[in-house]
Amino acid sequence: MASLRDQLGGLVYSTEKGNTCPSCREPLESCRCDADSEQARIAALDGVVRIRRETSGRKGKGVTTISGIPLTTAELKDLAKALKKRCGTGGAVKDGIIEIQGDHRDSLKQELTARGYQVKLAGG
Ligand SMILES: [Zn+2]
Repeated sequence: MASLRDQLGGLVYSTEKGNTCPSCREPLESCRCDADSEQARIAALDGVVRIRRETSGRKGKGVTTISGIPLTTAELKDLAKALKKRCGTGGAVKDGIIEIQGDHRDSLKQELTARGYQVKLAGG
C-alpha cells in the first residue's frame, strides 16, 4: 500500500499535469474527442475524393486541395508527404483537407487513382 505521502505526491502530480480537455474534461492523454470527431468526419464522407484548384486570395498558381479522403489526420499527413514529394512542392493538412502548392491536379489524380481512390476533379 502506498504511503500517504506517495498518494499526495500522485495527486499533486496529476493536478499539476492538469491539461484537461475543455469538451469532455478528461485528461488530454485519455481524451477521445479528437479521435471521435475524426471518426465523425470520416463517416460523413461520400467516398469520392475531390481535387480542386484554388487561386482566390493566393499568389501565383494557388494551391490544389484534396478533400474527402477517408483517412485520419495522421494518415493524411503521411499521404500529403508522399504527394508533396511526387509533385516536388510544399503543402499542408488542414481540417481533413490536403493542400498542395501549385497546380498539380493531373499528377495528384493519377497518384490517388493508383492508390485506389475514386477521384473527381472539381471546380476551375
Ligand atoms: Zn475531450
